[in-house]
Amino acid sequence: MGQTARLGRIAGIPVGVHWSVFVIMLLLVQGLAVVILPGGAPGHAAAVYWAVAVVVAVVFLSALLAHELGHSLVARHYGVRVRAITLWLLGGVSQLDGEAPHARADLLIALAGPVVSLVGAGVFAAAAAVVHALGGGALAVTGLVWLAVVNVLLGVFNLLPGAPLDGGRVLAAVLWWVRGDRASARRAAARAGIALGGVLIAAGFLQVLLTANFRGLWPVLLGWFLVLAARAEAVDTVVRNTLAGVRVGDVMTTPAVCGYTSQSVADFVATVARRHPHRTFPVLDLDGHVAGLVSLTRLGKVPSADRERVRLADVSAPVDPARLLNPATTLVDAAAALPAGGHRLAPVVTEGRLAGIVTHGDVARATELAELGIAPHRDGPAEQDRP
Ligand SMILES: [Zn+2]
Repeated sequence: MGQTARLGRIAGIPVGVHWSVFVIMLLLVQGLAVVILPGGAPGHAAAVYWAVAVVVAVVFLSALLAHELGHSLVARHYGVRVRAITLWLLGGVSQLDGEAPHARADLLIALAGPVVSLVGAGVFAAAAAVVHALGGGALAVTGLVWLAVVNVLLGVFNLLPGAPLDGGRVLAAVLWWVRGDRASARRAAARAGIALGGVLIAAGFLQVLLTANFRGLWPVLLGWFLVLAARAEAVDTVVRNTLAGVRVGDVMTTPAVCGYTSQSVADFVATVARRHPHRTFPVLDLDGHVAGLVSLTRLGKVPSADRERVRLADVSAPVDPARLLNPATTLVDAAAALPAGGHRLAPVVTEGRLAGIVTHGDVARATELAELGIAPHRDGPAEQDRP
C-alpha cells in the first residue's frame, strides 16, 4: 500500500499514513465529539468536546502505531527487515521484507501487536481509574475509558484466527510448528480467514435483520474485506510456494539490451531504443560495468539539436548498488528490490558484468505462470513463447 504522507522514522523504520486514515480519523473525531464524550461527561461547550475528541483520536492513532511497532520490532529482532509501517483505514500494516526464520519467530511476531494493544488497554484503564480516584474530570475519564475499550477490541479482533489477521498468522505459525510445513500452514490460515469473513458477513446481516439497525453493516464490511484479503493471501501463498525455487537467472531477459557511456544519444536512439520494447536501459562504461540507467523520458529531455553531441554518460541516472541483482537471488526477494512503477528494471550482474535485466513484466509473468501452477525455468517450456 502506498503512503500518502510520511510521518518520519521511529527506531529507524519509516512511518507513514495512507489517505484513508484521514477518513477514519474524521469519523472517530465526529463520533467522540457528538456522541461518546457528551454522553459520558455532559455539560461542556461543543468546542471543548471537539478539542478533546481530536486529542483522543490522535492518542488512538498512536496506539495503532504502537501495535505495528510491536510486530516490527520483534520481526527485526529475528533478522527480518522492516521496510515501512503504514497506517490506513483498517489499522496498520508492517511491510516486512523476507520471512521469519522459524515458526517460533513467526508466532512471536504475530502475537506482539495484539499484546501491545491489550497492554495499552490496561494502561488506559488504570489511568482512567487513577484520574477518577483523584477526582479528575469526567471528560478525561470518558476519553481514557474509550481508549481502553477500543484497544481491547483492537487486540481481540486481531486475534481472531484467520489470515491476514494477526490471529491467522498465529494459527499459521502454530500449524507450521506442529506439521513442519510452512506453505500448508499458510494455506490453512488463509482458508480460515475466508471462513471467518463469511461468519462476520452472516452475523452482520443477521444483526441487521433482527434489530433493524444498520450498525450490523460494519461486521459485513469488515467480513467482506477479510474475505478479499484472505483470498489474496491464499493466492500469494500458492505463488510464493511455486516461486520458491525460481531465481532471477530463470526469468531475466538476456542478453541485456544496453547502451554505452561514450555513445551519443542520437546513435543510441537510432540503434537501440527504437528497436526494443523497454523503457529503461542499463548503460555500461568502457570496462563493461553498469554505470547507470537511462530512460526514454530522460532521452526525450535532450533537445533534438543536441542529440549528436550529448553522450549517454551525461543523461544516465546513477544506479543504486542495492538494485543490482545476482542471478542466484530468489525472484521473491528480487521483486521486493525492484523499484515501483511498471517500466523500471533492475540490471542483473555476475562478477561485475551485466548478465541480463529483470523488469516488473518479468516478475508479473513469472507470478502469473505460478498461478497457473507452472514454475518458469530457463530453457523450460515457459521460455519458448517469450517474444
Ligand atoms: Zn497486528
